[in-house]
Amino acid sequence: MPRPVFRFAPSPNGYLHLGHAYSALLNFDLARRAGGRFLLRIEDIDATRCRPEFEAAIYEDLAWLGISWETPVRRQSEHFARYRDAIDELAGLGLIYPSFESRAEIARLVAQREAGAPWPRDPDGAPLYPGDAKSLSPDERSRLVGQGMPYALRLDMAAACARANQLCWIEHGEGPDGETGVVSARPEAWGDVILARKETPTSYHLSVVIDDAQQGVTDVVRGRDLFWSTSVHLLLQRMLGIPQPVYRHHRLIQDGSGQKLSKSTNATALRELRGQGASPAEIRRLVGLSDDFRNSTGSC
Ligand code: GLU
Repeated sequence: MPRPVFRFAPSPNGYLHLGHAYSALLNFDLARRAGGRFLLRIEDIDATRCRPEFEAAIYEDLAWLGISWETPVRRQSEHFARYRDAIDELAGLGLIYPSFESRAEIARLVAQREAGAPWPRDPDGAPLYPGDAKSLSPDERSRLVGQGMPYALRLDMAAACARANQLCWIEHGEGPDGETGVVSARPEAWGDVILARKETPTSYHLSVVIDDAQQGVTDVVRGRDLFWSTSVHLLLQRMLGIPQPVYRHHRLIQDGSGQKLSKSTNATALRELRGQGASPAEIRRLVGLSDDFRNSTGSC
């Protein structure tokens, strides 16, 4: 029997907090329980926000928690050529087009069209891209790219969905409305998502599916805030002909006022808690994990 493969995939754009500790420990516990492998992946595609000191702190904090991982660690910034190949493959299928509007221009277009009825929003609450650049001619696209205009490469969602047929995934955890078991994907709810930009040949959605496949990940365990992103991931896996893992979306650790934790608040940063004398066992208890890894999944 092949061993299941789990991974924890933080972005080094801040210090890890209790929410990350929960996700990392849960992945590590589940891997050990299943006799599986545990991988760490550094999701550092955003060069403007990721910093080496945050990456160093990730290694330090995870080791302090008692977590060990296989090496070498995959760092996304070292695999841009692989993501570019995937974009080329999708472009070859006619599923990619460039859009040239800034965020403010998109907001203006949406506001104009919202005059009659509310404009559709994606599961994160952002307005769907109105699709204006989809109708530009090949000549017009080349002219704008040639002029040095910034652009985003978008997935033609309607075309991709037409190729995909029915998509569903196995959910071992729970979605925001209690969805579990076999869940039907709804990628169309995201509209024409951005898969790359002029300066960055990838996006969260694209690199996560390429990397999970490249690393042989069988079990994706991550926060419930990413539950509906899974729809886009399934669609990309289908378009690129790569395997589909099973998923477990876990509860999010909240602060005292019921808000999702953020990397910018120090109060729950692991290094802060460590400095105040907290032990790794106390961190486990704080996030609701039992001391024994064999019992640690009950409340996820
Ligand atoms: N890098 C993402 C984050 O830090 C996690 C991605 C995933 O687990 O799919 O939120």
